Amino acid sequence: MPIYDFTCKCGNSLINELVNSHNTTMFCNKCNGIMQKKISLFANHTYPKEGITLKHVAKEPVTFHSRREMKAYATKHNLILGALE
Ligand SMILES: [Zn+2]
Repeated sequence: MPIYDFTCKCGNSLINELVNSHNTTMFCNKCNGIMQKKISLFANHTYPKEGITLKHVAKEPVTFHSRREMKAYATKHNLILGALE
């Protein structure tokens, strides 16, 4: 299951929320608005030797071995990756 960060325009946020699918809509528990989804980068986790594979950034799974590699990919593909901010 994918893991995302969610943010709401009211300022509320959910970090590393496990959801059933990439189409899941999260509603804010404070203002009941629809929360904006960001791809979680596992900010507090170290990168395993085999890398971290993100299945939902492209048609094919993409494996990253460093934060720099992931950031380069995000820039190239114009992705919003939550933990980079
Ligand atoms: Zn809200």
